[in-house]
Amino acid sequence: MPVGTLANVKTLTPAQLQETGAQMILSNTYHLHLQPGEAIVAAAGGLHKFMGWNNPILTDSGGFQVFSLREIRKISDEGVTFRSPHDGQIIKLTPEKCIEIQNALGADVIMAFDECPPYPASRQQVEVATERTYRWLERCMTAHQRRDQALFAIVQGGVHLDLRSRAAAQLSQLDLPGYAIGGVSVGEPPELIHHIVQATAPLLPHHKPRYLMGVGTYREIVVAIASGVDLFDCVIPTRWARHGTAMVQGQRWNLKNARFREDFTPLDATCPCYSCQHFTRAYISHLVRAQEILAYTLLSIHNITEIIRFTQKIRNAIMRGTFATEFAHWLVPQEVESKT
Ligand SMILES: [Zn+2]
Repeated sequence: MPVGTLANVKTLTPAQLQETGAQMILSNTYHLHLQPGEAIVAAAGGLHKFMGWNNPILTDSGGFQVFSLREIRKISDEGVTFRSPHDGQIIKLTPEKCIEIQNALGADVIMAFDECPPYPASRQQVEVATERTYRWLERCMTAHQRRDQALFAIVQGGVHLDLRSRAAAQLSQLDLPGYAIGGVSVGEPPELIHHIVQATAPLLPHHKPRYLMGVGTYREIVVAIASGVDLFDCVIPTRWARHGTAMVQGQRWNLKNARFREDFTPLDATCPCYSCQHFTRAYISHLVRAQEILAYTLLSIHNITEIIRFTQKIRNAIMRGTFATEFAHWLVPQEVESKT
């Protein structure tokens, strides 16, 4: 899922986004609550109509964003109180409020409100957050009013596999339509992320969608899929695009590099995207150097297409029964692109 935090995937129109092959996108409850507010989105007829995207949307609960704020005033069983980074106003977010906002936004999949502990954190702090996340999930289920929206649970537990395992067992009993692994990719080393995912994903119901939140470089995707994960969201393809970086067949290219100045071939001759069909590396390199907005659009189109094609190749390999052999080289520990 490409990330469209503020009801848009940066620099792309919905038509351009659809052409990349993306089927579902992610938007964010916390950010849309602050700006423009769920009342405006609801008055527009819901998030799909408001942003002109007729395909599935998932809204993240905002737990991750709220707990990343320095301006947290108070965390209690009731909820979280914090100061809005926009206007300094004091805002209180509870599980009930989070679901009320998501019911108003109207995404197809909504996420339970969770406490995402930082990394590193003490085991006790993680344990408290994990247990609170479970109690909050029960309140989210009670508050949830729209049966046309699927509510997903989030497994927390930090780097403690026993806490993750206990949370996964508790949540699985609630028979929700989908399950997410949260609280990863919050600063841990890549190999630790893989260890957590490999241990947690198999514990979640196999017949339900399993979603790894906020993760999505090439190798992370392969490791997670090998563990049973179905869904991902990640800002990397679009964020890197805005930094002038192209994702090409598992590599990462900085288009400012001198070698692209007079390279009149497409980014990737095998890529069917609009950017590769119409433009050269030299042209995109020129746009990046000149800081033209079109550079970011063309790179976003290509990068999203690239990562979607990568997952399509994995899906085809799974269907053929050749995933384990074809993608084995990705599972060997190597130098991994960090989340930037
Ligand atoms: Zn392309």
